[in-house]
Amino acid sequence: MIVDRFGRQFQNLRVSLTAACNYACTYCVPNGKKLQPAEAELDAEQLLRAVRLLVDGAGIEKLRITGGEPLLSKKFETFVRGVSELELKDTAITTNGQLLPKYMPLLEEIGFKRLNISLDTLDAKKFRSIARSGDLETVLRGIEMACDVGMKVKINMVPLKTANFDQVLPLLDYCLDRGIELRFIELMNMGHLKLSDQYERDFVSLDMLLATIRSKYEVEPITAAYDSTSLRYEVVGRGIFGVIANESEPFCRSCSRLRLSSNGHLYGCLSNTKNYDLSPLLTKPYPLALNELQGVLTSALGDKQSIAFTGETTVMKFIGG
Ligand code: SAM
Repeated sequence: MIVDRFGRQFQNLRVSLTAACNYACTYCVPNGKKLQPAEAELDAEQLLRAVRLLVDGAGIEKLRITGGEPLLSKKFETFVRGVSELELKDTAITTNGQLLPKYMPLLEEIGFKRLNISLDTLDAKKFRSIARSGDLETVLRGIEMACDVGMKVKINMVPLKTANFDQVLPLLDYCLDRGIELRFIELMNMGHLKLSDQYERDFVSLDMLLATIRSKYEVEPITAAYDSTSLRYEVVGRGIFGVIANESEPFCRSCSRLRLSSNGHLYGCLSNTKNYDLSPLLTKPYPLALNELQGVLTSALGDKQSIAFTGETTVMKFIGG
């Protein structure tokens, strides 16, 4: 496998099924307009072929299905059935949970085990003002259904100073009570945030977050896997939470992620707009495609930042959050 001078290689693949989303979160898209599918999105079979190539050619072991909102895509069922047959070490979905009640029977039937559900608040009014769509009760019902069938659920929250900072402790309590790992994601300076002062206004640092949690709980750091993007902490005697501290504790040095967009473009780094169109490889004989893929992977690995995330005007939804 291809390895760079920091010992990094691609092991984790994030596949964006569609750029479209049924939310329009304030920190993800500008002006409240929901994002639409990207031009020339690949169908489920083409995306599965690309995934197979990347598993064989890059040594991908873990796959995350994301978007946009993956459950919104008509490809979802075919794709999720296809990847569940690949027998990877780990397969997970990142979803806003709005369509989870509809898809739980399918996920249960194929034995799907891991879900990350994005939830920024337990307050219905704040929910509507951040997501600018959707319904809190439906997400909570989806979370309960997933927990009831024994899925491993994590909740992702992006704390924002001006919008939901008062929700840090209520959400942590909600998760601790249910044995769910809450993961706080530091706001990333990308997309439209780079073009205004919204990032400076809303960014919540790791220190600020920990101080708030420590105002109520005893908190101890615990070790996380080498290539984990998440710092992990124990609320003593109660449970675990994580922090993806892109800014406060950058993890670029051990990043093993590769991203495939819904129109078949490969991105080696979230902080870099460079990308490589895989669609021409999908119609070539498999051994030839595998061979040509090596050059693409070398370039994509070279696109990774060496130290810290520096932000980009790419929009997370296009390239898979
Ligand atoms: N629609 C799905 C969902 O909501 O989970 C998957 C895609 S969404 C882009 C993936 C994650 O990225 C969500 O947890 C969202 O909160 C997070 N996200 C989006 N923009 C972000 C930003 N600027 N900084 C930090 N996290 C962000």
